[in-house]
Amino acid sequence: MEDAFRFADELGPAKILHVHEPGVGLRGTLVVDNTAAGPAIGGLRMAPDVSTEECFRLARAMTLKNAAAGLPHGGGKSVLVGDPHMPAERKERLVRAMACALADVKDYIFGPDMGTDETCMAWVRAEIGRAVGLPREIGGIPLDELGATGFGLAHACDVAAPRCGFALAGARVVVQGLGSVGLHAARFLSQRGALLVAASDSRGAIHDPRGLDVEALAATKRAGKSVALHGAGRSLPADALVDVECEIWIPAARPDAIREDNVARLRTKLVVAGANIPTTPGAERWLHEHGIVNVPDFIANAGGVICAAMEYHGASQRAAFEAIEEKIRANTEEVLRESERRGVLPRQAAVDLAASRVRRAMGWRRWSIF
Ligand code: NAD
Repeated sequence: MEDAFRFADELGPAKILHVHEPGVGLRGTLVVDNTAAGPAIGGLRMAPDVSTEECFRLARAMTLKNAAAGLPHGGGKSVLVGDPHMPAERKERLVRAMACALADVKDYIFGPDMGTDETCMAWVRAEIGRAVGLPREIGGIPLDELGATGFGLAHACDVAAPRCGFALAGARVVVQGLGSVGLHAARFLSQRGALLVAASDSRGAIHDPRGLDVEALAATKRAGKSVALHGAGRSLPADALVDVECEIWIPAARPDAIREDNVARLRTKLVVAGANIPTTPGAERWLHEHGIVNVPDFIANAGGVICAAMEYHGASQRAAFEAIEEKIRANTEEVLRESERRGVLPRQAAVDLAASRVRRAMGWRRWSIF
């Protein structure tokens, strides 16, 4: 019994459900962490090996991200055990079965995550009606195609730049991971006059101190080629991206990209997190102590979930992008101001901001402890 509550703290989790449907080979877990602000929104991840603990940590991250963004939604996450590259027919059966197994959990809204996409969300929607990140034909706003998260990152950079003593126009940008998030961040930043000087993907990196053509790089990626084969600029080993001198360094690939063992190599003034947990706690402390501003992930990369929540409430694409701009600018400003005023890490300021919003929302419920 005690073991079942090993993750419990003052915020949640509200429920942890394991679902098993031997007939289709379904095994899955849902964590609804906190629903004080509204029904939880969080992705459905498909992977062969995600533990309940990881599912809980991802759900908690969504509670904080949604609260920080001021959305009328709590946080949750679901995990479907399986290889996301399995034959499409089998994947469809499993995703539909997962949706049906959770049909009665009305305070959880499915969204796309690693291993799932808008087609999976269309299947979930067809089964139980509660999903975001849908195809356009059924009211979706295609957030990866439009670059909702990259758009938000560009605004976070715009707010943070003057605090770091430089202007966005002419600022040199490095992007690790030129995928949906990274590429759009580079595109929106270059529209504001910044210069992409280096970028990488899982197969290599490229550097040109005079600036790279973002649209030409996008075409290289669309053709299925690595940035390393782009032609212009100088090719680098992916790891050498950490050493490139710039004003803004954007991790947009994997967790733990910046760690205690490589953080001192960074030659930048600002780190704006596109990926989730791209910096270890030790590396974040180092950045803070050395005057490098770090805008934490759940503040800077909330564009995707803001877009998804707006979609759920029937908003237009234009209204969704206005909401991203307004919320990310305001939150970046507040987090950096509080971090400076209190002398704490930006992540601490961000967690405190989000948790205080969750506690306030919890305070309005009947059996409040706050
Ligand atoms: P993506 O798969 O479209 O892009 C990831 C990119 O990173 C690819 O270009 C890949 O080649 C590259 N990459 C992988 N490993 C790398 C490595 N070791 N070094 C350099 N590059 C590497 O994924 P995405 O949707 O852009 O998401 C990127 C990150 O942002 C993930 O951590 C994701 O969880 C997070 N995120 C995404 C969104 C969103 O809206 N898509 C929102 C919030 C957070």
